[in-house]
Amino acid sequence: MDGGTGTLLKHSGAHLSHTEYTTLWSAAPLTDPSRHHHVVSAHTKFIQAGANMITSNTYACTLDMLSKAYPNMSLKELTQKRNELAKTAMLLAKEAVDTSKADVKILASIPPLSVSYRPDLVKENDGLIEEYSGLIETISPYADVLLCETMSSLVEAKVAVNAAKEFGGGVDVWCSYTVDESGDVRDGTEIVEAVKALNIDAALINCGTPEACLIALKKLNVAGVTEEMDVGVLPNGYVPIDASTFTLRPGDSTASEDEGSVKPKEIIGRRKEISDNALAFVDVFKEYAENGAKMVGGCCDVMPEHIRAFRIAREGFEKKKVA
Ligand SMILES: [Zn+2]
Repeated sequence: MDGGTGTLLKHSGAHLSHTEYTTLWSAAPLTDPSRHHHVVSAHTKFIQAGANMITSNTYACTLDMLSKAYPNMSLKELTQKRNELAKTAMLLAKEAVDTSKADVKILASIPPLSVSYRPDLVKENDGLIEEYSGLIETISPYADVLLCETMSSLVEAKVAVNAAKEFGGGVDVWCSYTVDESGDVRDGTEIVEAVKALNIDAALINCGTPEACLIALKKLNVAGVTEEMDVGVLPNGYVPIDASTFTLRPGDSTASEDEGSVKPKEIIGRRKEISDNALAFVDVFKEYAENGAKMVGGCCDVMPEHIRAFRIAREGFEKKKVA
């Protein structure tokens, strides 16, 4: 699979300011046709590194995110803007796949609708259903898979998955949970229970530390989930995230102040020994495969170099197996 498209966009100069980064995050280059090439290029880099699935850049296409960037827009205008940006993101993913001429699936990212990693900020049910159904109807015509990702709460995951099943036109629905250091969902739900509660075609674990993702995978493997459905793992390269205080809003505690810098500053602590080492995930991904994972890739801070290094190493393991 691919890695952290949002991180790659940040590094590629797709943002005009740190404020734009904290208000629009990965949606920023979608708002401006002269910056669309950054999105195509990010997908292309992962495809060239060996990813056979890419995730659309729709993670920040939420009303909550857009309302920060466009505070004077009505709900109707925000919804139109969301649909426009989400459709653009899907078309840019398709452009990258078509140009590559490779056999690559497009996973349409269906994000949490409020702040990432914060199960305490999940909206009320009715608002969730309405927003998810509108997003899903917009993106599903261009998707091979609808991927509800970085779900920090069972409540939100259930609404997202049910909406994807109902409004997704029959496209396969996968769900990916973000896990804490115990390998469970950030709202405290045990990972096996959280996966079994959903009607999904594949289960994934994303945006936890590599170690936490392994703990979660082992729980799913022991419980037989890896036999029942395909399981994938996409760790990040961050230090453990404090889910009680995380925010992307400028001026809040964990977001850096804007000093007029064009290059966005780090909001979550990176583990440089992982992020800056192309070989960092080779053994980790191998261990995931040995523990039942059918798909591996990365989340925030996982770069094309990491994916490429694993692809090359995997060819080596497979040659050894045959020999
Ligand atoms: Zn992530």
